[in-house]
Amino acid sequence: MTSPKNIAILGSTGSIGCSALDVVRAVEGFNVVGLSGHSQIDLLAAQADEFKPDWVVGTDPINAGSFPDCSQDCWDFHIGDESLTRLATAENIDIVLAAIVGIAGLPSAWSAIDAGKTVALANKETMVVAGQQLASRAAETNARILPVDSEHSAIFQAMQSGNANEVSRIILTASGGPFRDFSSEQMKTVTVDQALAHPTWNMGKKNSIDSATMMNKALEIVEARWLFDVPASQIEVVVHPQSIIHSIVEFTDGSSIAQLSPPDMKLPIQYAFTWPNRLPGPSPKLDLSSGMTLELLPPDLERFPALALGFEVAQLGGTAGAVMNAANESAVEAFLNNEISFDGIATACRQIVEQHNFDPTPTLDDLFAADKWARQEMSRWMFA
Ligand code: NDP
Ligand code: MG
Repeated sequence: MTSPKNIAILGSTGSIGCSALDVVRAVEGFNVVGLSGHSQIDLLAAQADEFKPDWVVGTDPINAGSFPDCSQDCWDFHIGDESLTRLATAENIDIVLAAIVGIAGLPSAWSAIDAGKTVALANKETMVVAGQQLASRAAETNARILPVDSEHSAIFQAMQSGNANEVSRIILTASGGPFRDFSSEQMKTVTVDQALAHPTWNMGKKNSIDSATMMNKALEIVEARWLFDVPASQIEVVVHPQSIIHSIVEFTDGSSIAQLSPPDMKLPIQYAFTWPNRLPGPSPKLDLSSGMTLELLPPDLERFPALALGFEVAQLGGTAGAVMNAANESAVEAFLNNEISFDGIATACRQIVEQHNFDPTPTLDDLFAADKWARQEMSRWMFA
């Protein structure tokens, strides 16, 4: 019998974090040794009560004050971002699940990679901001980055059918979101509730808005470029409304290998936890007994301008990913607060990327500075 793997779940109170805990409940062989949450302290306390980890981190010092006194219990409660970094690098941890949303997850993911850990990476924004730097640091420290994003998990699985130098194209599938058939005119009046109602996936708010603008796919193009070291010219996107085919890898001989399963994040999370093995788990299986229609359609780059921007940013590299990501994070927040229109999100992101002082070889500090600049530009754009 192999010993259980120790897992730290950064962002355990989110959509991915909760699905990861469902996986641990259902699949034997995993110990939850660390949890972190930001605003949902009651949920974090309930998770700690159930899983009895060594570490619990409340990253927001104000909210963390309401964590219940648990001096009789076995876990230590820590507060703030530095505690998160210490958790991500703790000696006894085998796998760090990076499931914090946005650039807030970058410092802890970086620290885990710096420490040579295996990182199950859900937080795509970290790869968009600093993918080149993370990939080269992982090569130096022998850290392993296992993708959790469903498309990238599919690509990772399909890649195992050949050698990296035999890949001719990566084809990312996209559901197309709730506005797949909306005209550009209709897109101008989209409300927050409409944008949050995704037809096939149940996700956190930011990811849901990103899916509706298709900025999610733009981020995923950049994520794939660095995760798999494939140039932007070899990445394509195809719209697949059923979200059953999670992505496709085409090899030089013309074979295309795809991964199929019902849309449920528990499967890619579990695969990152059990890799290189597979185990029975809680995810539903495909039911093909009554037939199934799977559509694959070309994307519309005019109605979804974020997608075109994603290809350009993946090709540019350097500071472009950090700027696009920061502009988008700020724009999504502004849209959720009813401060900008839905179609303003992609417009603002393009303008801010085009205006920025591009640096092809940034350091990590340069990337954080580019992030800060883009957020300030977004405020300026809103009030211009
Ligand atoms: P959620 O918004 O549901 O959860 C985000 C998590 O991050 C929560 O635990 C939240 O804590 C925590 N958090 C928020 N802000 C901060 C902060 N400033 N510092 C530290 N922790 C913080 O997001 P999702 O679970 O949907 O997504 C997580 C990541 O996974 C994202 O990068 C997303 O793009 C990616 N992803 C998500 C998919 C999905 O299906 N949901 C699919 C593929 C990728 P709290 O809730 O306590 O405030
Ligand atoms: Mg995805």
